[in-house]
Amino acid sequence: AVYMDYNAGAPIREDARAALTAALGVGNASSVHAFGRAARRIVEDARGDVAALVGGDPEGVIFTSGATEANNLALKGSGCRRVLVSAIEHPSVLEVDGDCERIAVDGEGVVDLNILARMLDDDDTPAMVCVMAANNETGVLQPLREIARLAHDAGALVHCDAVQAVGKVALDMAELGVDTMSLSAHKIGGPQGAGALLLAAGGRIDAEIRGGAQEKGFRAGTENVAAIAGFGAAARAVRFDAREMARVKALRDDLERRVRAICSDVRIFSAAAERLANTSCLTMPDVVAQTQVMAFDLAGIALSAGAACASGKVRPSHVLGAMGASSRDASCALRVSLGYGSTARDIDRFIDAWGVLYTRMHNTAATANP
Ligand code: PLP
Repeated sequence: AVYMDYNAGAPIREDARAALTAALGVGNASSVHAFGRAARRIVEDARGDVAALVGGDPEGVIFTSGATEANNLALKGSGCRRVLVSAIEHPSVLEVDGDCERIAVDGEGVVDLNILARMLDDDDTPAMVCVMAANNETGVLQPLREIARLAHDAGALVHCDAVQAVGKVALDMAELGVDTMSLSAHKIGGPQGAGALLLAAGGRIDAEIRGGAQEKGFRAGTENVAAIAGFGAAARAVRFDAREMARVKALRDDLERRVRAICSDVRIFSAAAERLANTSCLTMPDVVAQTQVMAFDLAGIALSAGAACASGKVRPSHVLGAMGASSRDASCALRVSLGYGSTARDIDRFIDAWGVLYTRMHNTAATANP
């Protein structure tokens, strides 16, 4: 089978699997005895590895059940009464605060800095600005440094969901100037059900899950030592590798060029903006995405329609909607996302299947509507 859905979840790395298996059933990291101390060492080593991945402070790493929990914690625990979020955030940001204000994006999906500046000027209520580093559907990258500067000049905090960007572009929390950042283990080849919220040096947050004093009181509950061990191992393995990303980008660019050679009407979203090297969000004209996903699945190729979270329901993506895409284009958008296991052979298989489906659907349409 050909796996082209890395943005939904990357296959687990061997290092992560080994670390996870070795840590299963060790003691409780809060226990004082030798078993507890062994578990504590695993958790603290992983904390260092996760912090190092984004130039963060190990003291500021709060392990969570995933990025959904980390995003919830960042937004609810900040103490800010006003929350400004980009219109293309993941649902784990958009659904947290019913009163959040949306920052508009342009046609490529990039946050409009003038609009953000105006929103910050309009009201001096303590605010949090929340913008993702890279979008899960289109891969579009955001001008985070400028966003953080604008926000801080206005006395606002900045939260960044870096789930999709980490390992694919160079990311440094201090250099970007963000106050909090979310990460997810399973997007970088770690296990599902582990993630982290990183606080900039000296940062604080109000706990959402209360109970014991684990994670410095910021997140109660016995640590999931095995998952955290797997997360740490994945973090060590994924360190941004420009050469690997150049390899993946060449595959993605080849795929897009060959699709366009079959049909010049293909629309590729965010292609004119800076975007992740592994992601392509592209339309097959007049073929609904759900049909495409099923046809590719039958051909042994795994990929997604728009956001994986929206799959199952045929609902045009809010991301493409915010970019002003027509519902006709949005309903035909497929997301291809590559990664460390992707090969040139995978691209050949994809192009073959794409060509077969395109020809079949367009010949059928021609017969049905002579
Ligand atoms: N943020 C983004 C951009 C994502 O793509 C995802 C995963 O779908 C999440 C957050 C949620 O992460 P998790 O699955 O760890 O809860």
